[in-house]
Amino acid sequence: MAWHKSSFYKVIEQIPIGVAVTLPEGTVEYANPHLCRLLDADGEALPITSLFKLRGREAAALDEEIRRRLTADGSWQGETEFLTRGGGTCHVLEVVYPLHDEQGTTTHFIHFLQDISAHKHAEMLSSLAFYDSLTGLPNRNLLKDRLARAVATTQRNGTGFAVLYIDIDHFKQVNDKHGHDIGDELLHQFAARLQRGLRNSDTVARLGGDEFVAILEDMTDTQGAVQVVEKLLAACRGEYELCGRRHCITLSIGIGFYPDDALDAQALLRCADTAMYRAKTAGRDRYALSEPAGYCGIV
Ligand code: GH3
Ligand code: MG
Repeated sequence: MAWHKSSFYKVIEQIPIGVAVTLPEGTVEYANPHLCRLLDADGEALPITSLFKLRGREAAALDEEIRRRLTADGSWQGETEFLTRGGGTCHVLEVVYPLHDEQGTTTHFIHFLQDISAHKHAEMLSSLAFYDSLTGLPNRNLLKDRLARAVATTQRNGTGFAVLYIDIDHFKQVNDKHGHDIGDELLHQFAARLQRGLRNSDTVARLGGDEFVAILEDMTDTQGAVQVVEKLLAACRGEYELCGRRHCITLSIGIGFYPDDALDAQALLRCADTAMYRAKTAGRDRYALSEPAGYCGIV
């Protein structure tokens, strides 16, 4: 059977992928039925609405980036977010190619859009299950997994790792004095300082409230962990600027070392927690090792 251009058009009208043809300034000249369904728009409304507007608030910057890449690479591919007419959000994987006339001038762009909203939703659920929404750090579930992995790696390579149990001193006073939102802001900034004070390969998790746990992998002895803790204390204690208000904090840290202090992850975490409480009892603003009388004051 001979190939007809009209057959190609019929395919475009039926495929379960969004297809749009736009003019260089952004007006949509054609949108196939699948795209109209995705964006909750009827065929009448789309040709006069630009994709530019549909992309929402960050549209201008994104449009600029797409234009730059189209000029440099001859195509653009990326994830975009469209506001549907009903006010919802549709996540798509979009590929854009320019169409040229015989003189080589770009006359149109052709866009292919695949709906990835379900995938994004699943990603968000997984993020909620494994990450703390306030700080973006791993939560207790992911920490458990990382601890198990640290035990397995250490058993294989014969080194050690340290667990730090970290708690802000008198954090309740921040909530009481400045309000819960400022308390949240402090937790957010504190988490960022903790992360900056550690290597990328180390894990730092938020257990809840003002309690954090860090895993320092590939350590040969407690002394190595103590050096990191001293750096962390220096980086994380002191003044924080919280929405125009200044607040000074200190913190207490308990250190547990695998395999010296415990042979399983949960027992090690308990050792570090107990050490942290000993640091609190000894006056706060200090660290304590997971062995009797092992605590040290910070100067
Ligand atoms: P300590 O020196 O003994 O650690 O005393 P603390 O005041 O820091 O008290 P503690 O660590 O026991 O309690 C932490 C407080 O953090 C308890 C709770 O009111 C508050 N909190 C727990 N979760 C959140 C949160 O998500 N945001 C804010 N702003 N506060 C929280
Ligand atoms: Mg505390």
